[in-house]
Amino acid sequence: MTIPEIAEELDAVSAGEKIPPYRSKQIFTQIKQGARNFREMTCLPKDLIKTLENHSIIIGSKPKKKYFDKDGTIKLVMELSDGALIETVLLASIPENKLKTDSLKKTHYTACLSTQAGCPIGCIFCKTGSMGFIRNLKPSEIIEQFLLLTDELRKTSKDCRISNVVVMGMGEPMLNLNALRKALEILCDPAGFCLSKRKITVSTVGICYGIADMAINGPETKLAVSIASAREKLRERLMPGIIKYPLPQLKETISQYQKKQKRRITIETVLLREINTGQEDARALIDFCLNLDIAVNLIPWNPAEELYFEGKKLRQPTPEEVKKFAGMLEKGGLTVTQRYRRGRGVSGACGQLGTQLDSPL
Ligand code: SAH
Ligand code: SF4
Repeated sequence: MTIPEIAEELDAVSAGEKIPPYRSKQIFTQIKQGARNFREMTCLPKDLIKTLENHSIIIGSKPKKKYFDKDGTIKLVMELSDGALIETVLLASIPENKLKTDSLKKTHYTACLSTQAGCPIGCIFCKTGSMGFIRNLKPSEIIEQFLLLTDELRKTSKDCRISNVVVMGMGEPMLNLNALRKALEILCDPAGFCLSKRKITVSTVGICYGIADMAINGPETKLAVSIASAREKLRERLMPGIIKYPLPQLKETISQYQKKQKRRITIETVLLREINTGQEDARALIDFCLNLDIAVNLIPWNPAEELYFEGKKLRQPTPEEVKKFAGMLEKGGLTVTQRYRRGRGVSGACGQLGTQLDSPL
């Protein structure tokens, strides 16, 4: 809830008694400071605490299972109030060469948030896509991921906070943009977590009307667009749910977006061994990026069981394949980065999120 919504809730539960407006801000701030039940909010009068305990809840979702990777990644399986399961991940950005030292204090932390349970797009390389679509998350369920990850971080590194967010967990953000917009507004509120929009990245598979909506109505975060192949036919085979938004339309939408939100955007390209790493693929991507302000982020495929492409098991690209592909893009004038592979030890890396409902929790 926003602070004005908490004020409305207070009016609704207090049976006619006037609650001073500053109480809603106090409650908002207390949740940020770690209060997870109303009794901990000692700044509130006892009667109000009792009323709130009878009528309201702070967090509706429960952490069901926790995984800790030796690279500092934490993955939480969360059960939502209707029993749906989602996953959310905390990533520690530690330079690779310091993984074994106690440099955790110098680390900055990124929350990778989900926007849907499952995903309707069905990209063939993504475990979430293979689950099918369950439902959209509510703003509260997006924020609760952040709260539960914060609670985990507090247990291990008291002085650390989560400063960055990537909306790259389960689901397609543009299909649940209103809920995401509200959740991010609340997370950026100066009376709460006070996140900076510049430290938030929203990743989309390329839903054009969503990108256009974001250009006008925000959130004014960074934007990343996933293009597994800039060869249209191959893209359709790899990302079947995106067929309605062909590449020329996507390029035009990105171009319009950049006229409004004068910001460089990232194109994310998952690399699949011997499928999308050839010369033609590089050429098509260079062509797509022409006249746009783009950085390309290569993501070597993270293995997820049982994923096939037209009858053949998917494979990770070889390091030489990645290097060669990056080299071709750079030769074509593109800025290229490669994503760190955090969280693979707990199936918490890109494309590995997908709660198995049949596994013991
Ligand atoms: N639905 C959004 C955000 C979630 S996926 C999107 O598709 O952009 C985040 C990123 O992970 C996307 O760039 C996607 O292409 C990539 N990805 C999906 N499965 C992957 C896998 N198994 N290995 C590596 N990257 C993967
Ligand atoms: Fe959905 Fe993104 Fe996975 Fe595609 S890659 S299935 S859009 S979550």
